[in-house]
Amino acid sequence: MSMKRSMTALAIAAVALGGCASQTAQAPASPKNIIFMIGDGMGPAYTTAYRYYRAGEAGSEVKPTVFDELLVGMASTYPADNTWVTDSAASATALASGVKSYNGAIGVDAQKLPVQSVLGQARKAGWSTGVVATSQVNHATPAGFVANVASRRMYDAIAEQYVQKRIADNTMLDLILGGGQRYFSRDPGGLSEQMAEQGYQQIWDLADLDSLTQLPAMGLVADVALPHAIDSDQPERLVAMTDKALSLMSEQEQGFFLLVEGSQIDWCGHGNDIACAMAEMHDFSLAIERAKAFVDENPDTLLVITADHSTGGLTLGANGVYEWKPEVVAQVRASVRPITETLMAGSSAELAERWRQHVDFDLSEEELSALDTAYGKGDKALARAVLKVINDRSLTGWTTGGHTAVDVPVMAYGAGAQAFIGYQDNVNIPQRMMAMMGW
Ligand SMILES: [Zn+2]
Repeated sequence: MSMKRSMTALAIAAVALGGCASQTAQAPASPKNIIFMIGDGMGPAYTTAYRYYRAGEAGSEVKPTVFDELLVGMASTYPADNTWVTDSAASATALASGVKSYNGAIGVDAQKLPVQSVLGQARKAGWSTGVVATSQVNHATPAGFVANVASRRMYDAIAEQYVQKRIADNTMLDLILGGGQRYFSRDPGGLSEQMAEQGYQQIWDLADLDSLTQLPAMGLVADVALPHAIDSDQPERLVAMTDKALSLMSEQEQGFFLLVEGSQIDWCGHGNDIACAMAEMHDFSLAIERAKAFVDENPDTLLVITADHSTGGLTLGANGVYEWKPEVVAQVRASVRPITETLMAGSSAELAERWRQHVDFDLSEEELSALDTAYGKGDKALARAVLKVINDRSLTGWTTGGHTAVDVPVMAYGAGAQAFIGYQDNVNIPQRMMAMMGW
């Protein structure tokens, strides 16, 4: 691309940012609050898939999603260990601190020395801080913003830092919302009691969210992770937690830094389960709508959304067929696990009927016979066969059960959003936030 053309592209992008650009003209140069939202595993095929999933059958009217509306650029994600393909820990460390590290690293550099996160800097500046996740709260992505340990698997050490680490005499977080009860013992002297002694309001069930009325507060609403959105009786659980977080944090006079993770897009991607992934994308997109509405009312707030990497090598179109069928995906009402459990719980003669408990289309003879063969081999083979029916019918492609090295989308809105236009590396995102704040 010539210099002239890339300048034009930038100018067009700046015009497309419209609202933000004019808002920033009036708002202070540095944002008062930062909302950082990370869709774990949400590579570009996920935001594309979600757009068509919302539209339905091919030929339907296509409307921009909130991801499309807020898109400003892309980010590379490679870690520091010469693999190009990052895990969530190295990427969380990069997105939190602007420092590349090795896969598995939580808030430490390649020499395993602790690095300071943008959340930690916000804390130092006297801001309120919070993390919201649908995984356990001490999982890699939120942990990368709060803790400093050599390995993401050190869940207990990470949880301890959530409670015991201090910056300028303060705990790291005013708000913790997500799963992970088992890592914060409620026994006498345990981490939960230590938090209660420090004045944290506490809940243990998502249904009690309303009883959190002020900071500091913690809601650990699942033993480990919350159920997948598609399997949950509250599929909009990230929306509910984001709403609560915004209402508690906006009452603070100082600024706030809020991290919101759509944690399970990645897990559905590891499972190559497109229906599961789209339900997670839906919850995440609605949570973004809430954050965007908050910025509309508080234009001195910066909202940045990105992913840590892409998962599964998802693509739309497979097997040489020039089609993708989101309407098939929409007919699947459960993730692969409950479907498989339901099928395994009955006889082979009941497969077709039991299939319909979770899926709104009938199995073809060929599909039924494939499921029958797999049923005879046990639940792992059956789960693979279930996924194959859904992926083949919808023409959804996957290349791996792991992560891939493709760039991820970057969305931004509000005060300072234009700093994220164009190509950037993931480390530039927190670097630009810190530069904006003079941290
Ligand atoms: Zn992953």
